[in-house]
Amino acid sequence: TQSSTFDPIASGDWLGLLGGGQLGRMFCHAAQSLGYKVAVLDPADECPAGMVADLHIQAAYDDADGLARLAGRCRAVTTEFENVPADSLRALAARCRVSPAADAVAVVQDRIAEKTFIAGQGIEVAPHAAICARDDLLAAPQALFPGILKVARLGYDGKGQARIASREEALAAFDEFGGIPCVLEALLPLDYEISVVIARGFDGASMVFPIARNVHRDGILAVSSVTPGAADASHAARQVQATQAAQAIAQGLGYHGVLCVEFFVLGDGRLVVNEIAPRPHNSGHYTIDACVTSQFEQQARVMAGLPLGSADLLAPAVMLNILGDVWFEPGAHAPREPDWSAALAVPSAKLHLYGKREARRGRKMGHVTIVAATPEQARDDAARVACALG
Ligand code: ADP
Ligand code: MG
Repeated sequence: TQSSTFDPIASGDWLGLLGGGQLGRMFCHAAQSLGYKVAVLDPADECPAGMVADLHIQAAYDDADGLARLAGRCRAVTTEFENVPADSLRALAARCRVSPAADAVAVVQDRIAEKTFIAGQGIEVAPHAAICARDDLLAAPQALFPGILKVARLGYDGKGQARIASREEALAAFDEFGGIPCVLEALLPLDYEISVVIARGFDGASMVFPIARNVHRDGILAVSSVTPGAADASHAARQVQATQAAQAIAQGLGYHGVLCVEFFVLGDGRLVVNEIAPRPHNSGHYTIDACVTSQFEQQARVMAGLPLGSADLLAPAVMLNILGDVWFEPGAHAPREPDWSAALAVPSAKLHLYGKREARRGRKMGHVTIVAATPEQARDDAARVACALG
């Protein structure tokens, strides 16, 4: 069977991580709080997780020697991003415990395989077509226009996507992407977007975090809110439906670790899965400050063979992403780190910065989570923090 239990890894032992970004950094913090040492493999000489890890193995994700060093050091290895080569996970799995498994990651890192899998679970996805050649675009149903052409692999934060109004524009965008495999999705009338983060252990037990409601700007997550209450019955029903869908997806993938399912809620109330992330997710950052157990601690617990913690919400929360854009004042010559005092003057605001040296527009530099006594207070405080951040 795909699920099996194993002896818990004792504190003081090593957990390994592929990828050194901010998700990895927050994983390090959580794993170290549990007493583990963390080794991070990342090709960059300076990266958010490498700076806080107990060991940074600077190597490419497919470097056999680097992977061998990671597997030699660690009892268990996970990943903080979905674009790690599945073959690297397979190579590691011969030497240590790997979660999530290569086969699960392989499905979700390819938008075509991902949509086929989700639809196969009886869960709705956007109307779409696999586009491997120009002919596929010429044959695509008219219902997919206007649409979004997305590269099948390696896209993130809205990169590798083009909104297209017509077949002609789609052909131009396909050529622009270099003719690599893509999916064409119908542009859906979104009412709003939600996401479900779920942790699933090797014993098959799972824990689902409260559902976040997400606002994106330019294809990048901007705000996640978890402010329960004042919801109507249909909203509550959709939350149940989304939770069940996430559980079915995790189970169907034989998944071990933390996974996020992004959903669209359409104008007519239908729930459609957008995509799956095989790792903790930006929309789950609020769990650090506002839940009994964070998504990163759950990730460490799964790897270590420990029981999952409660995913209960302690208080209403709103998370605001901080992009590199705020480093760029109008008219200024060079980027400059903002003064955080005005935002931190809102006492419910918790600031998290990822230690990235270079600020770029659209780059995720940090986030703020507002944790307040009531949903109204959380929203008001979030508005004040957003204003302070400019
Ligand atoms: P990424 O992998 O970069 O997160 P997504 O596929 O999640 O890319 O798309 C980013 C955002 O673009 C979504 O969160 C949503 O706001 C918008 N979007 C993506 N696909 C569609 C669609 N088919 N219809 C309407 N909006 C979409
Ligand atoms: Mg997305």
